[in-house]
Amino acid sequence: LDSAAAAPLPSVSRSNLERRWSDLTSFATTKKVQSWFQFPNGNWEMGTIISSSGTDSVISFPEGKVLKVNSDSLIPANPDILDGVDDLMQLSYLNEPSVLYNLQYRYNQDMIYTKAGPVLVAVNPLKEVPLYGNDYIQAYKSKSIESPHVYAIADTAIREMTRDEVNQSIIISGESGAGKTETAKIAMQYLAALGGGSGIEYEILKTNPILEAFGNAKTLRNDNSSRFGKLIEIHFSETGKISGAKIQTFLLEKSRVVQCAEGERSYHIFYQLCAGAPRALREKLNLKDVGEYNYLKQSNCYCITGVDDSAQFRIVQEALSVVHVSKEDQESVFAMLAAVLSLGNVSFTIIDNENHVEAVADESLINVAKLIGCDIADLNLALSTRKMRVGNDNIVQKLTLSQAIDTRDALAKSVYACLFEWLVDQINKSLAVGKRRTGRSISILDIYGFESFDRNSFEQFCINYANERLQQHFNHHLFKLEQEEYIQDGIDWAKVDFDDNQDCLNLFEKKPLGLLSLLDEESTFPNGTDFTFADKLKQHLKSNPCFRGEREKAFNVSHFAGEVIYDATGFLEKNRDLLHLDSIQLLSSCSCHLPRIFASNMLNQSEKPVVGPLHKAGGADSQKLSVATKFKGQLFQLIQRLESTTSHFIRCIKPNNSQSPGSYEQGLVLQQLRCCGVLEVVRISRSGFPTRMSHQKFARRYGFLLMESVASQDPLSVSIAILHQFNILPEMFQVGYTKLFFRTGQIGALEDTRNRT
Ligand code: ATP
Ligand code: MG
Repeated sequence: LDSAAAAPLPSVSRSNLERRWSDLTSFATTKKVQSWFQFPNGNWEMGTIISSSGTDSVISFPEGKVLKVNSDSLIPANPDILDGVDDLMQLSYLNEPSVLYNLQYRYNQDMIYTKAGPVLVAVNPLKEVPLYGNDYIQAYKSKSIESPHVYAIADTAIREMTRDEVNQSIIISGESGAGKTETAKIAMQYLAALGGGSGIEYEILKTNPILEAFGNAKTLRNDNSSRFGKLIEIHFSETGKISGAKIQTFLLEKSRVVQCAEGERSYHIFYQLCAGAPRALREKLNLKDVGEYNYLKQSNCYCITGVDDSAQFRIVQEALSVVHVSKEDQESVFAMLAAVLSLGNVSFTIIDNENHVEAVADESLINVAKLIGCDIADLNLALSTRKMRVGNDNIVQKLTLSQAIDTRDALAKSVYACLFEWLVDQINKSLAVGKRRTGRSISILDIYGFESFDRNSFEQFCINYANERLQQHFNHHLFKLEQEEYIQDGIDWAKVDFDDNQDCLNLFEKKPLGLLSLLDEESTFPNGTDFTFADKLKQHLKSNPCFRGEREKAFNVSHFAGEVIYDATGFLEKNRDLLHLDSIQLLSSCSCHLPRIFASNMLNQSEKPVVGPLHKAGGADSQKLSVATKFKGQLFQLIQRLESTTSHFIRCIKPNNSQSPGSYEQGLVLQQLRCCGVLEVVRISRSGFPTRMSHQKFARRYGFLLMESVASQDPLSVSIAILHQFNILPEMFQVGYTKLFFRTGQIGALEDTRNRT
């Protein structure tokens, strides 16, 4: 185990440490100390203050530069001795540049994990680091290594599950490419190693290649980006062995199936199938090269550097077999994928002067019909017409070109999304806990982090809403942890202030005048448009402090992680997510079993008619839960479940935007630390009383500085006398039953005197 991250920090003698402390605490007097200065490019650099007069300080930087700057712009840096501490809370100055520097210091030595109090921060190495595998697992199990690690978190989760008999959760967040999915797999690896034995752990690990093939895609941010959220609940028996698991997925980005940006790819499985299908399967499905499918062609990107799609295909096939998807079912799955691809090649021809169309009866159309098992004529009708009820009559309306294309794409998206859900169901059946269930579990949540792009749409709206909820869970958790420690020691709890994001959650959830309600309401109006939706928001929410109307269809929401401007374009359509009844009927009449299952699932979802445009002609569309409402329901359930567990938080950080190892962009990291609440943890700790020392230790350490000896020699009286003598202001400390609690920086003056004495 000779790795940098496993190695302890260079050892330092106590006196050295104290000398550094004293350097640090003399900041106010001599000012000859290390300090951070922010250059116009935004980067912080550490320099030494060589003199100070009035409001100005002269600071010199390592490469010889000397600047005269405003003293107020300087931020104290920590002494070298604290370089690379493995918990940010050990820093005596917890400011942003110090936190950034500490993470970078560790990152440069491949120590990618750092604690921030109760939170594990993981900076993506973007290369292989020698921190994993059986030797490390054993070392964390036996506690012979204590450096921060995902393994350590997983280990704590197992221990606390057993000790407290409480379910556990590991909540992983971070932006795209930050390493959430890899981190989740690393945690699963540890749980599987410690809880293995029944063989089911092998199946659990095999769900990863399957879900990644069907739910991940290459994006500009990440070559293997998860386009869905995932919760995996791993169950343990009384003897601590894994007894089963259950997977829940959230919000698959199905638009990617039909539409994808330049340089990105659709879901991996399409390319894997085209590259890896054996000859017989190719012929049976009439598969073509990736370049011949419109859905795959549009983004001009077919390969991922370093990835062999055809080899991946075999891995997925094997994994499907491990989770008991029969060869027959696998073939049906591949047929559905081929059908989706062929659908994208279906074209239309205009048949009258009103721009009405019918599908061209070419190879693509014939192939789709064959693959899903329906009549070519029925397929053509479903794609080019729509049945409607007018009064008591059924009429058939012909579709225009753009309507037909939308109908075709909606069918492709639905088939793919149903296929994904069906696969998750099959996996869950295979992993089912059944009678062995003991109720003890560890859940791992790998869910998209807060997103703020140049243009933010419905997807970001949902994702950021989810993050707002998760943030509240996070706050409650930290609040509780701090509170417990304070209450235990009899400290006045009211003096710690917490940021609460309840206002923003109310903005989303309030009925009837919240973002979600208004969205659903507008989605049910036949004449509702993105414009009328944005107008309603501006009209009803203008007095909400978290909301601001912007130009045209745009609106601004103040999230805990920052302000985001959403563009309401496409909100209603995405929220309604309609599939015409004609398409559902077509699927239900197919001779293949998967389309029929899909159709019945779609109809099941439509039992509760909540949202759906009421077409003036009396629409025959499936009435179903809106996407936002369904997501909100899932989210509530998720939070409820998490609240019944002990949560462990891992925040993943992406060090640069180019997916390249070694580069650490301060601004980018800082913005993520803010978004994922790491700086908030630090702030909470700072706003509270982060320095804690027992009465005994305090009295022992500083007692000799007392001018007059204290009559009674008990540690508490000695401590109080010291506080008095050094004029430590009452608001700067609290006396607990066993410990003294100090605000940041208070111990400094004492240390200083102690070292001069
Ligand atoms: P998204 O939200 O797009 O799904 P993500 O946060 O799940 O992103 P990952 O797919 O886990 O990101 O990570 C992106 C890439 O970073 C991985 O494909 C891998 O190359 C690299 N990576 C992440 N974590 C590690 C790690 N611990 N060791 C080595 N490489 C890593
Ligand atoms: Mg991911």
